[in-house]
Amino acid sequence: MTTPVGRQVRVQGMVQGVGYRPFLYALAQRHGLTGEARNTAQGVVARVFGPARDVDAFVAALRVEAPPLARVSCVQARPIPAEEHAHFRILPSDAQGAPAVAVTPDAAICDACRRELLDPQDRRYRYPLLNCTQCGPRYSILLTVPYDRPNITMRAFPMCGACRAEYEDPTDRRHHAQPTCCPACGPRVRLLGGEGEPLDGDPVRGAARLLREGRILAVKGLGGFHLACDATRPPVVARLRARKHREDKPLAVMVPDADAAAALVHLPDYGRALLTGPQAPILVAPERAASPVAEEVAPGTDTLGVMVAYTPLHVLLFEELGDVPLVMTSGNLSEEPICIRNREALERLSGVADAFLVHDRPIHLRVDDSVLLATDPGPTLLRRARGYVPAGLEAGLDADGILGFGPLLKNTLALGRGTTVFPGQHVGDLDNVRALKMFDEVRAHLAEVLGVAPTLAACDLHPDYPTTRMAAQSGLPVVRVQHHHAHLAALLAETGDYASALGIAFDGAGYGPDGTVWGGEALVFDALGYERVCHLEHVALPGGDRAAREPWRMALAYLVREGLDWTRWVAHPRADSVARLLAGPLPQVQTSSMGRLFDAVAALCGLCDENTFEAKAPMRLEAAATDAPDAYPFALDGPVVRTGGVIRGVAEDLARGAPVGAVAGRFHNTLADLVVDIARRVRAERGLARVLLSGGCFVNRRLLAATHARLREAGFRVAAHTLLPPGDGAVSVGQVVHAAARRSRERGPG
Ligand SMILES: [Zn+2]
Ligand SMILES: [Zn+2]
Repeated sequence: MTTPVGRQVRVQGMVQGVGYRPFLYALAQRHGLTGEARNTAQGVVARVFGPARDVDAFVAALRVEAPPLARVSCVQARPIPAEEHAHFRILPSDAQGAPAVAVTPDAAICDACRRELLDPQDRRYRYPLLNCTQCGPRYSILLTVPYDRPNITMRAFPMCGACRAEYEDPTDRRHHAQPTCCPACGPRVRLLGGEGEPLDGDPVRGAARLLREGRILAVKGLGGFHLACDATRPPVVARLRARKHREDKPLAVMVPDADAAAALVHLPDYGRALLTGPQAPILVAPERAASPVAEEVAPGTDTLGVMVAYTPLHVLLFEELGDVPLVMTSGNLSEEPICIRNREALERLSGVADAFLVHDRPIHLRVDDSVLLATDPGPTLLRRARGYVPAGLEAGLDADGILGFGPLLKNTLALGRGTTVFPGQHVGDLDNVRALKMFDEVRAHLAEVLGVAPTLAACDLHPDYPTTRMAAQSGLPVVRVQHHHAHLAALLAETGDYASALGIAFDGAGYGPDGTVWGGEALVFDALGYERVCHLEHVALPGGDRAAREPWRMALAYLVREGLDWTRWVAHPRADSVARLLAGPLPQVQTSSMGRLFDAVAALCGLCDENTFEAKAPMRLEAAATDAPDAYPFALDGPVVRTGGVIRGVAEDLARGAPVGAVAGRFHNTLADLVVDIARRVRAERGLARVLLSGGCFVNRRLLAATHARLREAGFRVAAHTLLPPGDGAVSVGQVVHAAARRSRERGPG
């Protein structure tokens, strides 16, 4: 008989509202320990008693065996005198009030709920809205804090006796599961026709039948509506595209499970865990040759975005449909925000959807699906939303009360609390009234649930952005941040190392303080400031914004700049007049944008004359590229990267009939070489050996991999984004980081 020992442990992090106390209870039972546990403002505190070996095992498991949604940041244990307890108990929460707010993201259905859903003996059998402490809606149904039943949209549904008993039982896996419900007390699913008229019969079976017949359905999900249809039938997908006014931007597909996903795309090592984990994002990965998905789903690309059924309603749909992949795209028109309310969906999506699969659990806040790109060694975020928001980024500097308004395109906003920066969900392009309204909703909601009143605004340098205007109208002091500096400052915060570094920011456009459009930039920088050490040689941006939509204009601009015969390459009816403009006396807006260089080369290669969606031309060029042994010539001429050799080389190659794939491969090699050359020069001149890669161009798998590999071979330390998107979704965080650094400097030490 061993002498019992005692231990008091405190567990901190995201451990409230995620089933941590039932986990503690089960763990104590398993190790035969007695004692007690309770929620406090400082985290979960437990006192356990038993043989030393079992107590040690208990403590060791607190982090490694924590429930999936919990994020344990700290476990502290100290010995206390042994006490006599009959068993292990969960005590009521400490009266000291609300714990430090930990609002968790929405989570995909967990394994336990999936089993119940499909178990004919279970009282929640085939109930499409079941959830527990480990899964279901969170952020998207939260009205205010604390995270409690009266403060979520489920307050409209009083719990039945059975649900209440589970909710109050500390040993039950639904203990304090705020949105818990069942067929007796919870919301219901209904199937409505195109005019909103109720359709008879089982709604899920009815919906599955319509999908099999080739109809388009609006399906209410966690953070908004999807438009769904059979992804294997070309005419059906084409009809969805026509009705949604979405010409050729890739659509995502949903499949029942990870095996079905692996049958469509080549999953990376981490792919299965990611797709079936609580985040359950869309993962964009190389498509298999044998994939039955219609070409119309992602035309002109060699990749496909896949996700796995992540709500019980999706699971039930696939129980009827089997392995048929479904297109599941945001329930909106074109680029507007996703619909969330039933009536809103019926109005905005009438004429798009043939029927509506809805439920009456209200969604409070729009949250799109997150999108990640399969890169090595880990994934790259393209769109950060469901499953990730509102998790914060620990920035290591005082960002409290700083609101970053973000960029114009792919907008997110970000708010600091303490030393953590909380990026809001993807809002999208702020070029329509609905998007601006969503921006305001997210802005108000983030401040509400974080309990932070903004005291300082950070925004872009561009004088005409709506975000710049909103920042000025906020009544707060405003810090203006250059777009590419913001990109790199966000990445600096991700690395946690604030020492000066070389930053490479390659993207489409950002306002430059010299009045040109930046986008092919090498900055030596830290959180406080930057020096522009290198940039692409200027070229005219003929037609301004139109140049970004019509890549032939960029091909023309480059050819005219180099004095090459453009008539051979550009056949557009307007080419003549644009060429005259380029050669004429009127000043043209100049750009150093890498995105526009991609556009020009893609247009020369005949791959894309119109960017019907952002970055279409660069995506086409990436998809076309094959491995090439060499690269095109460029020159570092002081701070300017001379690109004439690249354009001439591409034109000569194409003129002598070189395959487009080889040209595209060489072009990618050229950019990787360029980054290494810039990095070598900066290392020689300034001793900096760390290189940070940001900007939308680095969602190009080929460019990212080649640049990364060659920099490492040359002895550099390289960092790319892992927690934020490399594109403009990171900008708001960088704005907050820069403003925080400035404020700290102004306040001085202490
Ligand atoms: Zn669950
Ligand atoms: Zn119930």
